[in-house]
Amino acid sequence: MRRMPVEYDLHSHSIASDGTLTPAELVQQAHAAGVQVLALTDHDTTDGITAAGASADELGLQLVPGVEVSVSWQSLTVHILGLGIDPRCSALQSGLQRLRAARDWRAGEIGRRLDKAGIPGAFDGAAALTRGRIISRTHFARFLVQQGHARNLREVFKRYLVHGKPGHVSGEWASLEDALGWIRQAGGLAVIAHPARYRMTASKLRRLISEFRELGGVGLEVVSGSHTRDNIHTMAALARTEELLASRGSDYHGPENPWVKLGDLAELPGGCMPVWESEAWPVH
Ligand code: AMP
Ligand code: MN
Ligand code: MN
Ligand code: MN
Repeated sequence: MRRMPVEYDLHSHSIASDGTLTPAELVQQAHAAGVQVLALTDHDTTDGITAAGASADELGLQLVPGVEVSVSWQSLTVHILGLGIDPRCSALQSGLQRLRAARDWRAGEIGRRLDKAGIPGAFDGAAALTRGRIISRTHFARFLVQQGHARNLREVFKRYLVHGKPGHVSGEWASLEDALGWIRQAGGLAVIAHPARYRMTASKLRRLISEFRELGGVGLEVVSGSHTRDNIHTMAALARTEELLASRGSDYHGPENPWVKLGDLAELPGGCMPVWESEAWPVH
């Protein structure tokens, strides 16, 4: 009998960071969508993992404890997923704590800049929308949409929150070396998230990959909810030539974004070595 392929979704968010579902709701939705292995990868926090794990146990879904670490690399922000991390690792936790402090500082600064740009109360408004310990640009974006400053999140980012716009403040995140050190010490596998989303030339991306590999990084998120078909093929080819494992994740943030659904993803292209088939995959 032919076995049905296992459905993997290795990138998702809950209210512990900038998602809109609780960890339990997220796991229930993933299960209902046919996902069998789900990684919870909140930005710079592991707070949702215990609750997500409890729901996953009840439903018979496998939860991969994860995190999406914010990294500053050559004046760009890059996101590194740690998959299969042990949230009890103190090196990881003190690192993430530092990133959350940097987020708090940046949020105050974004609030001040928006105030100067004629939008008062954005810090309090964004903070009121957080339900965990981190504040992100997503919370500002939701507040600005609520206040009628833009029609949707994409438009707010474009008009207010990206480089060169009134509410933009560069984050001061982890070095690539620190991020990979924390993930390694926590027993996880490091994967470069949504590699096609960075404003980087192909040669710069190869430089990032080369440093990432030297520091112990192993994977590239070839299939992402934010990748086009072209992106997937480009990244699959890159994973093969750079001998990186390939990962697959929706980057789901909640039902408000109808374009991204849990588990609703292309298969990894042929020739890619899935991260979950690696010897080092921490969850079997
Ligand atoms: P931060 O880590 O606080 O800088 O916020 C980054 C988050 O904002 C990402 O994880 C996405 O969830 C969200 N984001 C970034 N760019 C956009 C965009 N153009 N439209 C909607 N959400 C975005
Ligand atoms: Mn996010
Ligand atoms: Mn990301
Ligand atoms: Mn993400």
